[in-house]
Amino acid sequence: MTRVMVVGAKGRVGRCIVAGVEAATDLTLAGVIDLGDDLGAAIASEKPDVAVDFTQPSAVFQNLQTLLARGVHGVVGTTGLAESELVQIDTLAREHNVACMVAPNFALGAVLMMRFAEEAARHFPWVEVVERHHEHKLDAPSGTASVTAQRIARVRAEIPRDPTEKETAPGARGGTIDNVTVHSLRLPGSVAHQEVWFGGTGETLVIRHDTVDRNVFVPGVLVAVRGIAQHSITQPGLVRGLEPILWPQG
Ligand code: NAP
Repeated sequence: MTRVMVVGAKGRVGRCIVAGVEAATDLTLAGVIDLGDDLGAAIASEKPDVAVDFTQPSAVFQNLQTLLARGVHGVVGTTGLAESELVQIDTLAREHNVACMVAPNFALGAVLMMRFAEEAARHFPWVEVVERHHEHKLDAPSGTASVTAQRIARVRAEIPRDPTEKETAPGARGGTIDNVTVHSLRLPGSVAHQEVWFGGTGETLVIRHDTVDRNVFVPGVLVAVRGIAQHSITQPGLVRGLEPILWPQG
């Protein structure tokens, strides 16, 4: 049995992860932590193998320092870690011989969407990303849209774009990330949605992913927990995204 601690257990995603761990026959819930709890003391008493963190950008780095230094593997959904912090996490995890996965999106469909978009971009030069979220989302574009655009740009050096002088209302043609056009819609009635549109000669290819509730993250988080606990990830250190577990051959 793998012992799993959930940090941010009363949060919107954390609650779903707790229920997912409790329902899994091969996992044991080893501690639920929230703001105000003593993480170090809980690790000493509960002895988790893996800790899942869905907390806040202001909390996650310190939580990880506590976890990794005590030899606990990390699975991190919390956004907002700076690149310099990721480098420090990598060093700390290696020092303590544990793995720490940090993934921008644990929804398996979203991970597949990004992979398929990268593949399609090799064959279709014209591409635009349209993401849609609830009206309370703080950032635009979404982290997933940004990563999708970056990955498309990585496989396609030149992305054609219509002349911007056609834009008579500023912003009508969206923004760009690494030259890829990204449109962000914010509307009540939405959760998290993304379409990647590819245009070719006489054809259109659309790759679409829809999230309807926060349970969407549970299967991917459990894939990560099991992958790390069962040593699919053999190297200690930082693991960026679910991809190394889903596609170990690259
Ligand atoms: P949320 O509802 O605000 O939950 C955060 C929880 O963490 C709250 O219960 C909060 O407690 C707790 N917390 C805050 N500081 C803490 C600390 N120092 N130690 C332990 N617990 C602490 O947020 P959410 O919607 O669940 O999202 C959590 C994070 O995950 C966000 O950064 C979000 O962007 C990210 N996220 C990532 C993915 C992904 O797939 N990677 C998916 C969804 C969300 P209090 O309420 O007492 O402050």
